Amino acid sequence: MYSNKVMDMLKVQVNKEFYAAYLYLDMANFYADKNLDGFANWFYVQAQEELDHAMLISKYLLNNGIRPELEAIAKPDKEFKELIDPLEAALEHEKYVTKCIHEIYDAAMAEKDYRSKQLLDWFVLEQNEEEANADSLLQKMKMIGSGGLVFMLDAQLAQRKHEPPSFDFD
Ligand code: MG
Repeated sequence: MYSNKVMDMLKVQVNKEFYAAYLYLDMANFYADKNLDGFANWFYVQAQEELDHAMLISKYLLNNGIRPELEAIAKPDKEFKELIDPLEAALEHEKYVTKCIHEIYDAAMAEKDYRSKQLLDWFVLEQNEEEANADSLLQKMKMIGSGGLVFMLDAQLAQRKHEPPSFDFD
């Protein structure tokens, strides 16, 4: 048996994952507008991963007979000036998402919702990776500053390709 409380929190999380995708698209556009196509690529891939997360949770809800409700997605409203700004904001946002996942995890434990806990186990690990990736990119950018090496990092980030999540239902 699942917990209604946990399922309600997961429904809200679907919207948060879509919002994260939106936010990363906005960051990708910031870099694309500055002709930093590698940075843009990294964030386009990041946005795709967030869509994967939204779809995974949606599938889980559907598997339990619950139809996800698609709510409006808020407008990304962060202002970016320096090249490093989206990287700072991305790490901050991943930490926020981790907090949200942990709160749902707390509820799943309290409600003895073992099925949801299994789904959330994957998300806990995934958030660990997401934070590490965002932090790694931020630290590299801090070392580089705003000089010509930005173009080397841009070339490296152009290599990132979207991979489907390591966990799926079908
Ligand atoms: Mg996510």
